[in-house]
Amino acid sequence: MIGERVIVECQDFQKLLDALRQKGYVTVGPTVRDRAIIYDEIASVEDLPIGWTDEQDGGKYRLKRRADQALFGYVVGPHSWKKFLHPPVLSLWKARKNGKGFEITPNRDEPPRYAFIGVRSCELHAIFIQDRVFTNGKFVDPHYQARRRNVFIVAVNCVQAGGTCFCVSMKTGPKATAGFDLALTEILDGQRHYFVVEVGTTLGADILQRVPTKPAQPRDLQIAEERIQQAARQMGRQLDTTNIKELLYRNLEHPRWDEVAARCLNCVNCTMVCPTCFCTTVEDVTDLTGSEAERVRRWDSCFTMDFSYVHGGSVRASAKSRYRQWLTHKLASWIDQFGTSGCVGCGRCITWCPVGIDITEEVRAIRESELSRTQ
Ligand code: SF4
Ligand code: SF4
Repeated sequence: MIGERVIVECQDFQKLLDALRQKGYVTVGPTVRDRAIIYDEIASVEDLPIGWTDEQDGGKYRLKRRADQALFGYVVGPHSWKKFLHPPVLSLWKARKNGKGFEITPNRDEPPRYAFIGVRSCELHAIFIQDRVFTNGKFVDPHYQARRRNVFIVAVNCVQAGGTCFCVSMKTGPKATAGFDLALTEILDGQRHYFVVEVGTTLGADILQRVPTKPAQPRDLQIAEERIQQAARQMGRQLDTTNIKELLYRNLEHPRWDEVAARCLNCVNCTMVCPTCFCTTVEDVTDLTGSEAERVRRWDSCFTMDFSYVHGGSVRASAKSRYRQWLTHKLASWIDQFGTSGCVGCGRCITWCPVGIDITEEVRAIRESELSRTQ
């Protein structure tokens, strides 16, 4: 039943993965690779980052062993779910020479039916944001829509916050409140290791029928709530969003943009790791004989010169204008464009910026300079 909360013991977690795979889902979730927790196909509990956690700060990410065997005892890594819904490289169509003309074959590949395992609340909000961008406007992206349509979501409530998280400021976490089929809270309490599982949809309830469960007791629910509150108190960063749009629009010529431009390497990392950034470019590739061609869509970034190139040059030629564009789009013009902020407070852009540029610090510096002028 929707809204029901039950207990799944840790030793039965594999049965949840099995039930999803038997239903034809490709289960994707967190796993350790190249000293980071990334998202990829997983078939077994053993594929999860058991006993690992992450340490994060501006420009810093390290994996560390935990003292326990938690399955979801870390926060978010460099990947986000957009890599499955909005792939980094996507073939749009292929063309083949046919006598004097050519024949075009659009990409109509049926995408896999994904089950996302371990989606954090901020990431659910990022998916809602991309839903608006790709499917709620006048122009619908059929590739995103086809991938998104059949996704089964197993959310995980955060019981610890990362060093760069600020979801509380953005009202996007740490508890998943909507948009999931099942939501888990992982609890290690003495010798016991179990999950409080909330049912979000009838589909979720149906999958859970195939997994051993028992009713959640008031104490289980209380522990789960306390752990989530603990994560909310631990946020590594804060962002004051009061009138943020007006603040940024008023300060387009603020000297802080020059300071940040002096540090920014224009490496594009912040846009690649951001779960809401969606910009792309298209490339046409032909084979050496000239008989076949392909049009490919790739992630692009507002930090590249090419991205804003129009006849005669780039519209945003300076690093200052590119950083300002990115930050003001995320936190101000996104609100005008899509009705929400473009930032969910996941902290990835802070962690993965090689020079530790911090979106929360930049806004704070601009806000504080205004306050000091009025005092
Ligand atoms: S702007 Fe940074 S903190 Fe906000 S959603 Fe993107 S990566 Fe996360
Ligand atoms: S802000 Fe940091 S991550 Fe983003 S382009 Fe500049 S140096 Fe790279």
